[in-house]
Amino acid sequence: MPAEDRYCPSCASPLEAKDVAGRQRPVCPKCGRVVFYDPKVAAICIVEREDKLLMVKRGNEPGYGLWSLPGGYVDRGEVVEAAAAREVWEETGLTVEIDRLVGLFSESGNPVMVAAFSAKETGGQLTTGPETLDLGFFSLDDLPPLAFPRDEQIWARWRDIRDGG
Ligand SMILES: [Zn+2]
Repeated sequence: MPAEDRYCPSCASPLEAKDVAGRQRPVCPKCGRVVFYDPKVAAICIVEREDKLLMVKRGNEPGYGLWSLPGGYVDRGEVVEAAAAREVWEETGLTVEIDRLVGLFSESGNPVMVAAFSAKETGGQLTTGPETLDLGFFSLDDLPPLAFPRDEQIWARWRDIRDGG
């Protein structure tokens, strides 16, 4: 279990790993509290300009120095579409309007699920942010090295939708 979960959030007793509801979870032997881990939600955007997609060169881990679609984690209580647009603005300097949900992407064993949206540029100026090393629009047959192979599934789905699939 993660180091921050060594103690019970309710009574501060040391937690133990036990089989609960099909897998090993931290359990408090004193008060019986079970710690369940929620998924994390990330929101990303596909922003198209002249048949090319907006991509960012990542300035943080995971994937430092590699490229991904712009996006990031949704804050608790934040509207998902607003988070997607916020991340695009923070990472690229562009303001966008969310068009539609492309899909929800998750995989076994990965705590992060990704909500992918298509979005249209409404303004702003391409500018690298504190988490971005570089930016650019790339065509799908000439992509830079990717941080997340999952991005390929996302634009494949996006292309299906765009082409009426
Ligand atoms: Zn407890």
